[in-house]
Amino acid sequence: MKENDIKNLVRPVVRSLRPYDAKEIPCKIKLDANESPFGFKGDIFRALKFLKTNRYPDPEAKELKIAIGRRYGISSENILVGNGSDELIYYIITTFGGPVLHPIPTFSMYGIIAQALGEKVIAIPLDRGFDIDLEKTLNAVEKEKPRLIFLSSPNNPTGNCFSAERIMKIIDASKGIVVVDEAYQPFSSEQGFLPLLRNYRNLVIMRTLSKIGLAALRVGFVIADAAIINEVNKVRLPFNVNSLSQAIAVAALKEKKQLSVFIKTIISERERLFSEMAEMNSITPYPSEANFILFKIKNPDDMYQALLRRDVLVRNLNDGIKGCLRVTVGTRQENSVFLKALRELS
Ligand SMILES: *Cc1c(COP(=O)(O)O)cnc(C)c1O
Repeated sequence: MKENDIKNLVRPVVRSLRPYDAKEIPCKIKLDANESPFGFKGDIFRALKFLKTNRYPDPEAKELKIAIGRRYGISSENILVGNGSDELIYYIITTFGGPVLHPIPTFSMYGIIAQALGEKVIAIPLDRGFDIDLEKTLNAVEKEKPRLIFLSSPNNPTGNCFSAERIMKIIDASKGIVVVDEAYQPFSSEQGFLPLLRNYRNLVIMRTLSKIGLAALRVGFVIADAAIINEVNKVRLPFNVNSLSQAIAVAALKEKKQLSVFIKTIISERERLFSEMAEMNSITPYPSEANFILFKIKNPDDMYQALLRRDVLVRNLNDGIKGCLRVTVGTRQENSVFLKALRELS
């Protein structure tokens, strides 16, 4: 069989897809993927001592749901756990279908998964302040009647929270489901949408442990009305979250002190990075409520390569957001190396 014969067998919507760009680039200071610079140590791994390697994981992740429920003050019937929130995006689109509406630029998986599943995608550009363009969005909601709307707030890669008022207007206007993806909520000064869950039956909130020091586990979760959870649960693969991840996540969620120190440190380092970057003449950093900062620069491609030569890896977004790079907040020392390099190279 020739290579082209295989291509011709592939569904047309998949043929034109580009894979998510998640390559491993070897580098000492890794500030490209919005991971936490702080990993958990020690005690949480004790949980693995009781792991039965011959048994399937708990298909319902009961203990993990209880641990999540405790942390956020919700009950298990309102929670669905996934192998990262990426998997849950897949499940949500599989369950409700399209059209799928999302702003742009935003997290690319909403569009990639919707396209892979053959659903229509409606991408509405953000306004100049990186907020939701309410008029265009409400027009599209009325005309195209999206069954799903994905809003990442704080938004990746711009870093800002969308206006809560605009989000509420969209939830009100939509006859479909509105997913507020709060992957970066722990770093935000705003309260987020959990307290509003009671008021809106079509609101779904997505969270993840990936950005707070547990990216290795692949644990994300959806919080929503039990009726929504029950429907999405029908398309979930039975053993989607493995036993190691379930056990370690339960133990880590109990480490409240460690978690809150990690988060506070990242927030204060973000503020330091921002104010130092703002003082550099040729750089415009955008205010962030997340664990990364988007910044504009004259020669982004050159700067990206120059930083890499100094062993600092950031994310080059010049393809999608002209002139922009994104840096994840690292440890104090990593951030200092990044700042020094940036100052000397710009
Ligand atoms: C990183 C990220 C995710 C993915 O989270 P996982 O739980 O690691 O799959 C989801 N949404 C947004 C906006 C992200 O930036």
